[in-house]
Amino acid sequence: MTIPFDINQIQTQFPALQHSDAAPRAVYLDSAATAQKPAIVIDTLRHYYSGYNANVHRGSHSLTTNATFAFEQARTTVQQFIGAASPKEIIWTRGATEALNLIAQTYARSHLQAGDEILVSEMEHHANIVPWQMVAEQTGAKVVKIPMLQNCTLDIDAYQHLLSNKTKIVAIAHITNVTGTRNPIESMIAAAHHYGAVVVIDGAQGIAHEQVDVQALDADFYVFSGHKIYAPAGIGVLYGKQALLEAMPPWHGGGKMVEKVSFSGTDYAGLPSKFEAGTPNVAGSLALAAAIEWLQNIDRQGAEQHIANLRQQALDGIKDIEGLRIIGLQPHASLFSFVVDGVHHQDIATLLDQQHIALRAGHHCAHPMLDALGLTGTLRVSLALYNDQQDVARFISALHKACDLL
Ligand code: PLP
Repeated sequence: MTIPFDINQIQTQFPALQHSDAAPRAVYLDSAATAQKPAIVIDTLRHYYSGYNANVHRGSHSLTTNATFAFEQARTTVQQFIGAASPKEIIWTRGATEALNLIAQTYARSHLQAGDEILVSEMEHHANIVPWQMVAEQTGAKVVKIPMLQNCTLDIDAYQHLLSNKTKIVAIAHITNVTGTRNPIESMIAAAHHYGAVVVIDGAQGIAHEQVDVQALDADFYVFSGHKIYAPAGIGVLYGKQALLEAMPPWHGGGKMVEKVSFSGTDYAGLPSKFEAGTPNVAGSLALAAAIEWLQNIDRQGAEQHIANLRQQALDGIKDIEGLRIIGLQPHASLFSFVVDGVHHQDIATLLDQQHIALRAGHHCAHPMLDALGLTGTLRVSLALYNDQQDVARFISALHKACDLL
């Protein structure tokens, strides 16, 4: 049963947010980079390593049987969480980056030909640009930019015009990490399918803020990292439609992704093992499932409203700072980026850090987007469900102080 959102009850579950008298609690406003972890996730790791650590899908003792069972249960938890049709469609990866590289080096590399086009939005994280550039170089295909408007939303008219029979892949973020822009992925996917293109959705930010249903979206691929939804780093997910995954060649070779190996040839395993060579991150998978189950017991609507209120408090509190500009403010985002004209973002970040305010300053791994905006960097405030009004008040006061000094 979901209990109504209660910030005090949430905060007590995050050991990293507890403070001692000796050190003031840092105000953590960098959750879009990585989220803090609830005790249940940390306990899951400890429980696995101290209780039933064993390799999976190998050996015949009961420890490995138990670990394998839990590992596959975790896959089913992910499958149900994102509405996939089968656990075979859930491939464990190290994160969104690895999942995107996997798609590029298997699906794309085996399907693309010279002259084909991969449409990639200008607002993407480098993880959803560079793998496409690499495979374009290998195949002779071309990466074509879907331009962004100055309000930091995609130019959908331009997208419609760029789509053609040459378009084989469209790669877009669900929600972007610089401004929190929520792309209209539903209509973009439908438009791409009209031309027979396959759509890859980078869900690294989207998964943290929306209930995703990959079948309702009709996404061909959807990727995300566990660490943005309160799970550990080093575990992530590639969702792909079963028919596409079946037809793709494997990527990494090694143990577990094979049926039979001989020097006259090797038979590969079926899904999902075909894409999971080597010993997987068992603990990470279990902890991701624990994070998902934890999240599913949270009143997510209440949490999003809480985050929206904090964001408004922050925007109201900083709006009168001289030279401060919010970049591409998006109505429902949990994060926002800003610059202060005439002051370097890194100088502000340093002064905020001295006041125990942790936020992100820089290009946010999105050079093309910042170039389009004529910026070298921004400061980004990203909120999560464990932040509170006091955090925001401390941020506002620290930012005023920093700007007065500079
Ligand atoms: N895509 C987006 C939109 C992101 O925000 C990030 C991480 O910040 C990534 C991809 C890459 O995620 P990871 O580094 O976990 O692979």
